[in-house]
Amino acid sequence: EKFKEGLTKTRDSFAEKMNDLVAKYRKVDEDFFEELEELLITADVGVSTVMDLIDELKMEVKRRNIQDTKDVQAVISEKLVEIYEGDNSEEDNNLNIQDGQLNVVLFVGVNGVGKTTTIGKLAHKLKSEGKSVLLAAGDTFRAGAIEQLEVWGERVGVDVIKQSEGSDPAAVMYDAVQAAKARKVDVLLCDTAGRLQNKVNLMKELEKVKRVIEKEIPGAPHEVLLVLDATTGQNAMTQAKQFSQATNVTGIVLTKLDGTAKGGIVLAIKSELNIPVKLVGLGEKMDDLQQFNTAQYVYSLFS
Ligand code: GDP
Repeated sequence: EKFKEGLTKTRDSFAEKMNDLVAKYRKVDEDFFEELEELLITADVGVSTVMDLIDELKMEVKRRNIQDTKDVQAVISEKLVEIYEGDNSEEDNNLNIQDGQLNVVLFVGVNGVGKTTTIGKLAHKLKSEGKSVLLAAGDTFRAGAIEQLEVWGERVGVDVIKQSEGSDPAAVMYDAVQAAKARKVDVLLCDTAGRLQNKVNLMKELEKVKRVIEKEIPGAPHEVLLVLDATTGQNAMTQAKQFSQATNVTGIVLTKLDGTAKGGIVLAIKSELNIPVKLVGLGEKMDDLQQFNTAQYVYSLFS
C-alpha cells in the first residue's frame, strides 16, 4: 500500500497514457506496439528493456491469439516481472546485515540526492526492527551536513559520531568505528561527502574512508549504497556509472520516487547497471523508505 501511494505520480501518468493508448487502438497492430514502445521509453523504463518487452509481448499476442489491446495491457506487467526476476532473485534486495556482528553501511552519492535523509530513515527502520544503530558524520565538507545528520539522530533517537566541519573524514570514520565497537552496536551507518566539483578528490576520499573501515573491521563495509535521485533521470544513470567505476557499489537507493512520473527509471537502473536496487525513497518522512521488490513495484504500477 505504501508502495502504491508513493508511486501515485508514476501510476497516474502511466495509467492515463495506457488507457488512452488502449482506447485509441482497440485492435492490436504494429502502430499500437510502436506507440506503446514510445510510451514506455518516455517513462524511463530503459530502451533495451522496452525492446525485450515488446518482443515478448508480440510473441505472447501471437501465441494466445490476442486481438484486443485491453488484453495486451494485462500481459505487460506479467512480462515485465518475468524479465526482471529472471536474473534478480529476491535475496538480492535484502541488505547484507547479519545478527551478532557489527555491520557497516557506507552511503555514497552526490549532494542533494537524499543521502542524509535516507540514513535517518534507515536508522529508524533498523531501530524499529530492534537493532542498535550509530551514525557517522562523514560529510565534513558540505556546510550544515553534520547538523542535518544530528537532527535526524535526535528525531530517530540514535547517536552521531562527528568532528568539526572541514576535518578529515577518514579520522571521523576511525572514531565512529571505535565507538561502534566499544558500544557493541549492530549497525553503523556512514555518511560521506558528495561534492562533485572535484571528482578525483572525492573518489580518493571515499577510498580512504573505505580503507579505514576495512582495516578496522574484517569484511566491512558490508554494504556500499549509492544514493540516486529518481527525478534526475539520465543524470542518475551517469552518476551510477561514475561511482561504480570508482568503488564497489553493492546496492542502490533510489530516492524521490514519489516526486516523479518517470518511476520507470528503477527498471532502467536494474537492467543497465546490474546493481540491485535495494531501497526506495517514497517521501520525506521517517517511514517513507521501503525495501525494493520488483513484482510489488510492477504490479503497483499497473493496478
Ligand atoms: P543529501 O545532500 O544527499 O544528504 O540530501 P538530503 O538528505 O539533504 O536531501 C535533499 C532533499 O531531498 C531534502 O529536502 C529531503 O527532504 C529530500 N528528500 C530525500 N529523500 C526524499 C524522498 O524519497 N522523497 C522526497 N519527496 N524528498 C526526499
